[in-house]
Amino acid sequence: MKVLVAVKRVVDASFRVRVKTDGSGVDLENVKMAMNPFCEIAVEEAVRLKEKCIATEIIAVSIGVAKSEDTLRAALAMGADRAVLVLTEQRIEPLGIAKLLKAIALEEGADLVLLGKQAIDDDANQTGQMLAGLLGWPQATFASKLEIADGVATITREVDGGLETVAAPLPVVVTVDLRLNQPRFASLPNIMKARAKPLRKAAAADFGIDLTPRLKVLATTEPPAREAGEILGSVSELVARLRDSKVL
Ligand code: AMP
Repeated sequence: MKVLVAVKRVVDASFRVRVKTDGSGVDLENVKMAMNPFCEIAVEEAVRLKEKCIATEIIAVSIGVAKSEDTLRAALAMGADRAVLVLTEQRIEPLGIAKLLKAIALEEGADLVLLGKQAIDDDANQTGQMLAGLLGWPQATFASKLEIADGVATITREVDGGLETVAAPLPVVVTVDLRLNQPRFASLPNIMKARAKPLRKAAAADFGIDLTPRLKVLATTEPPAREAGEILGSVSELVARLRDSKVL
């Protein structure tokens, strides 16, 4: 079973981003970048499937600028076998990403495509769903457990107030949620080995796919600054204040 894992290079989750002065987006100059946390969970799950001898090959794919190679090397260090880097300097919306992933999934003959449930930069939560639609494959989103046996994927999904278990025949698209697993740290020897693993580069423009964005970003704004706290003299003063502000 071939597993394709989509990994996105995003701003490191611990980094506080700043909005550009003209409001056209966030400033990515000198910002620490890392693999999207949900994509790390997807890679970890693929590696576990390989360790259980269910997956035979793991191919990591990323679409983005040349530096996305670092993200792919991180996936290779975690245990992916090889990688595909689709190069572009252009901002591509989830539909464009899904179209490119479709082309690669078919080209590679993937039986399972694993994606993060969302990218923490654009918070779109769209790519996996669109990919499944374009491929005409079943999809299971927000997976918190994944089992594969006899050509059938059984997925437990986190839904409001509980869990839902669904099954679908392969090939299938699965987007992963936070509680699926705890991604491993790559060991130094594996980081070294990852440098020699195969990584194929292709230009997004060569796929002959319309990647024109359909949305225009009109404004990006910082969240409002938090108001300063206040130390009150007693509990009764606190209760009175909460009543006044209609919190109680
Ligand atoms: P989104 O729909 O943008 O929230 O992204 C959901 C998931 O789609 C991510 O966690 C990745 O698995 C995949 N994805 C999105 N953008 C890219 C990209 N540029 N390269 C590779 N995978 C991506």
